[in-house]
Amino acid sequence: MSSAPETGPRPVFTRAFGLRIALWYATLFVVGSTAIVLLTYYLTSQSLLQRDRQILQGKLGDYTAAYLRGGINVLANTVRIEQRAAPERLFVRVVDRGVEAVVLSDSDDWDPARLETASVRLSDGTLVQVAKSTEAREALLARFRAALGLVTLSIVVIALTGGWLVTQSALFPIRRLTQAVRRIIRTGRTDARVPVAGTGDALDELVALFNAMLDKIEGLVAAMRHSLDSVSHDLRTPLTRLRGTAEMALAGAPDVDRYREALADCVEESDRVLVMLDTLMDISEAESGAMQLQREPMALADVVARAVDLYRDVADAKGVTLVAGAGPDDPRIVVMGDRTRLEQVAANLIDNALKYTPAGGRVDVEIGRDGPSALLRVRDTGSGIPADEIPRIFDRLFRGDKSRAERGLGLGLSLVKAVVGAHGGTVNVESEPGRGSVFTVRLPL
Ligand code: ADP
Repeated sequence: MSSAPETGPRPVFTRAFGLRIALWYATLFVVGSTAIVLLTYYLTSQSLLQRDRQILQGKLGDYTAAYLRGGINVLANTVRIEQRAAPERLFVRVVDRGVEAVVLSDSDDWDPARLETASVRLSDGTLVQVAKSTEAREALLARFRAALGLVTLSIVVIALTGGWLVTQSALFPIRRLTQAVRRIIRTGRTDARVPVAGTGDALDELVALFNAMLDKIEGLVAAMRHSLDSVSHDLRTPLTRLRGTAEMALAGAPDVDRYREALADCVEESDRVLVMLDTLMDISEAESGAMQLQREPMALADVVARAVDLYRDVADAKGVTLVAGAGPDDPRIVVMGDRTRLEQVAANLIDNALKYTPAGGRVDVEIGRDGPSALLRVRDTGSGIPADEIPRIFDRLFRGDKSRAERGLGLGLSLVKAVVGAHGGTVNVESEPGRGSVFTVRLPL
């Protein structure tokens, strides 16, 4: 026996998937954090620049007032006194009506590229300029940049490790699920289940669904196996009989009459097998939706009338009263369906009712309406069905314990259920041993 090929994703895919999610997570985290860092840097540098400009404007106002009060000497005095006390040195220059500039403080570093300047031209044409070195600000910003660089680096490291850890723990249940699926495929054991973590999240739901799917598959496989067993078992009896008949005929002395009788028996047994196989195939087709239904609108009363007519003689012969109830509304109960198939449904139910009702009993066939459904009801006063058999009577090849004496294949009700199902309807039964049975078919109107 060859082992089942191992299919499905290998762990490397899960790992690549995890890596991809981790990278996405890290990228988003890093991009977001970098944006915040850049914004912080921009706002800080802007506010430092703003502060420098305010200082310069303030000083410019003071110096202009001093100049206007007492000319260049008073201004020079003010500047000198301030420069002695001030922690930060300012550059001050006065250009008197286009003549040579008078620099009142620090002439060396008057490099406009490294200075923040503010100036005002007075009404007499004098230009007063105040400037401040940007060096201190630049140094501060440089230290700030270094700190932010370190922060960004830590963010990248945290994002990568965090992303990896988070994805690992998030993928853990998926990995467990994958392993379980792989194990099931490898061993072919559909009774294995993936444990539910109990967190109630989406993955738990997936695991629960997967387990439910396995339950369903297991159920279907078991049902198929059971059907196959029953079919083999049920085929064995007629085939053995067929063989026995042929063998017996061959064993004795040649006799045309005996041969004829044996061949007739063989034909009967073969017919039985063929009917059984045909019915099994009909049931499968109806259940799988592959049954070709010639749907047309038809009065349910007509369908019932034909089936009842078919069984009138059987009922009379058995001494059972067969009644087709006719309500005034009956002709207006119209369903869309396959006439032959629906007649088969009615016929099977009537056949059973007559079969399991002793002489003197009564079988009623009624139709009616219940909300959006048309009803077909077959009621009998027969043996009834034991409670433990009721759930199984619609199973293929099931025959009640007490019914074995009657002719039958155990396929009638399975076919009824499958055909009614193919028409979008349902069938149910109410029954008690000794008090008869009521089978109700509901079909969409
Ligand atoms: P069968 O060929 O045995 O009649 P069915 O599928 O038609 O197979 O029915 C399955 C079983 O359901 C029967 O063997 C019988 O035990 C039970 N059953 C069906 N219809 C009736 C009924 N009207 N009264 C009592 N038992 C019934």
